[in-house]
Amino acid sequence: MRTYDKKVVKAGAITFVTALFLLILLPAALVTVWNAVEDRGGTTARQEQTSDGGQQAVQQPGSIDSDAIRVAVFRTQTQTVEEIPLEDYVLGVTASEMPASFHIEALRAQAVAARTYALAKVEKSASGNPQAHPQAPLCDDTHCQVFRTEKELLQIKGQAWMDDREAGLPQVKQAVQTTKGQVMYYQGELVQQPLFHSASGERTENSEDVFTASVPYLRSVESGEYEDGAYEGETVSVGLSEFIKKAAAQDGAAAGAASDTIRILSRSEGGRVERMQVGGATFSGREIRELFGLRSANFTVEISAAQITFTTFGNGHGVGMSQYGANGMGQAGNDYRQILGHYYSGIEVK
Ligand SMILES: [Zn+2]
Repeated sequence: MRTYDKKVVKAGAITFVTALFLLILLPAALVTVWNAVEDRGGTTARQEQTSDGGQQAVQQPGSIDSDAIRVAVFRTQTQTVEEIPLEDYVLGVTASEMPASFHIEALRAQAVAARTYALAKVEKSASGNPQAHPQAPLCDDTHCQVFRTEKELLQIKGQAWMDDREAGLPQVKQAVQTTKGQVMYYQGELVQQPLFHSASGERTENSEDVFTASVPYLRSVESGEYEDGAYEGETVSVGLSEFIKKAAAQDGAAAGAASDTIRILSRSEGGRVERMQVGGATFSGREIRELFGLRSANFTVEISAAQITFTTFGNGHGVGMSQYGANGMGQAGNDYRQILGHYYSGIEVK
């Protein structure tokens, strides 16, 4: 998932989309009714003791009347737009974005985040769809959220996964059904950027330290203690001359850098590299991460005569909910509301 595109669709594209909309998509769009958010209030989840002593979340009505909503999804393989019932879409995203073997409360948190993301995109599409897919507010790839239909999931994951009640589709279905219609709000407004990533390694990141905008609910919080060492301490080695060559291709001032001029200058609150010096050039940790395919911009460097070795902590951009952290929080007895409240500061689930 990426932070959403802030670019304004160009006038030409608007004309094209308007024409396309009137000719082809209008009948379909009429089905995509954007229902006004219906606040039923008082939907705090209750936990009830089950006979075996375990806890089970009791389904509470969400603030969204999901049954009345279909979302238009641009399918990247076929280059067509499909109208998908919202809850089916949330199922297809949750199953694709998080391992079904994760704790049920983590899957519930993921389902709420996926549902929130979808509705935020639909809401935003009133002023134009993303440039990457002007045909629809959502696509089915990492640009938005990965989405697969049940039929596609069967092909990808196999029949055993479809039937596995512990770590397969039934588990994901339960997570989606028991959070039906629930989304996140911040100060009464639908949360626009429910970003998530695989593992933070340490702390999550303030949004402005990774992307540009400071988002009040995307604050740096502790996560490493819940992640059980996922993606901690992986190493990537690059020949020193190759490293300098690649860096210099990006910024000429790095050309011919002496090894004692390669160093980390500063880090963000979440621990990711903010600025790294290579000769006369300075790179952001994100640039270095992209340049050398590192899992995370939270890394250390060790330089020898012949090579530079990166040791990375975490996996992904580090902003918003850590999926491994959510799993660990679930295992530690937290419910999905507590998980979401931890990773998205000050939000409300209803
Ligand atoms: Zn997209």
